[in-house]
Amino acid sequence: MWMRKGQEQAEMTKRAWGHNGRGRSVEELLAARLAGEPLPREAAYRLMELEGDELLELFRAAAALRTQGRGTVVTFSRKVFIPLTNLCRDKCAYCTFARPPSDPKAHTMTPDEVLAVARRGREHGCKEALFSLGDKPELVHARAREDLARLGYATTFDYLLAMSRLVLEETGLLPHINAGILSAEQMAALRPVSASMGLMLESVSERLLRPGEAHYGCPDKVPAVRLRMVREAGELRIPFTTGILIGIGETPAERVDALFAIAELQAEYGHIQEVIIQNFRAKPDIRFRHRAEPSALDMMRTIAVARLILGGEMNIQAPPNLTPDAYGMYLLAGINDWGGVSPVTRDHINPEAPWPHLQELAATTRAFGFRLRERLAIYPEFAARPEFVDPTLRQRIADMMCLCEDFT
Ligand code: SF4
Repeated sequence: MWMRKGQEQAEMTKRAWGHNGRGRSVEELLAARLAGEPLPREAAYRLMELEGDELLELFRAAAALRTQGRGTVVTFSRKVFIPLTNLCRDKCAYCTFARPPSDPKAHTMTPDEVLAVARRGREHGCKEALFSLGDKPELVHARAREDLARLGYATTFDYLLAMSRLVLEETGLLPHINAGILSAEQMAALRPVSASMGLMLESVSERLLRPGEAHYGCPDKVPAVRLRMVREAGELRIPFTTGILIGIGETPAERVDALFAIAELQAEYGHIQEVIIQNFRAKPDIRFRHRAEPSALDMMRTIAVARLILGGEMNIQAPPNLTPDAYGMYLLAGINDWGGVSPVTRDHINPEAPWPHLQELAATTRAFGFRLRERLAIYPEFAARPEFVDPTLRQRIADMMCLCEDFT
């Protein structure tokens, strides 16, 4: 029965590609991609629907393309997480990080708290300070304005800039900035005090801004605004992290559209150093608490299609802590990076999901035939290109690269 369904699916797919996939079968299309042809968007839509044997073919092709471009080394960054403020002006339906001002857990870190976390990270061999925070809370929350005034700053951005500089100068950790929407001027100001920056595109679906959807009440989640920031980071030659969040109400075709939007910006500017495929996790205290989470298989399918769209050279990352029982399987679908892993701080975005111990991560990576290697917040191929590294950081980054650990 299952086989017949698989065969019927294969026939349907072949017929569909006769119209919009240059008349090729799945096998022919995957072979053409491995031979260097780009993937047509219509074909990517169809790949998101594969099942059975053809799905396995998709995984094999994506894994082969990854190995063509990135070999068998899988990387991670040893980091500390600095949640500078968990106040935010947006109201994403899946967010457990942001807190309303009245919540006893609402907090803006003091400089002493920031330094204490960064110093603890340094003692544990961390090299990245991930600044992750709510988006411009002072525009809507008096509490945020009061916190900032007490600290001596007018805006969250001003405070972020000062704390990035402080951490860099006092601890040597390399800041990676993940602060929501920033203007080109703000990114330019942060460039000398950070190794890289990031903004999850999440989705290009305007539909998700409607009432009841994931991004209702979120002015910073308008896709055009996010695409503008990714573009401006390219113009500024900032090594950049972006990605998609799956399971927040988007369709499979919208996932493909988001990946193509990323691929188009990468083709124009070449500054995207990694693309994250992140799965929604339901939590008891969020608006989407009853939403189904994407399965590991859905993650694998999306990772594989992302690999075929973005090519063998792109660093593709999936967070291991959000699929603790099965994350090793993502290696079979074409990832080559685990992202930031902290031996010190918990994942404040998904506090219920502890990061795996590094030895466990190394063992899982090895079990799938790969080798785990530490990297910095800036990938080695970007660190080697002077236009992507601010002159003030060059020596520091070169020195720190020598300290990255290889797990054999
Ligand atoms: S996901 Fe980010 S932008 Fe959305 S509410 Fe949470 S902190 Fe704010």
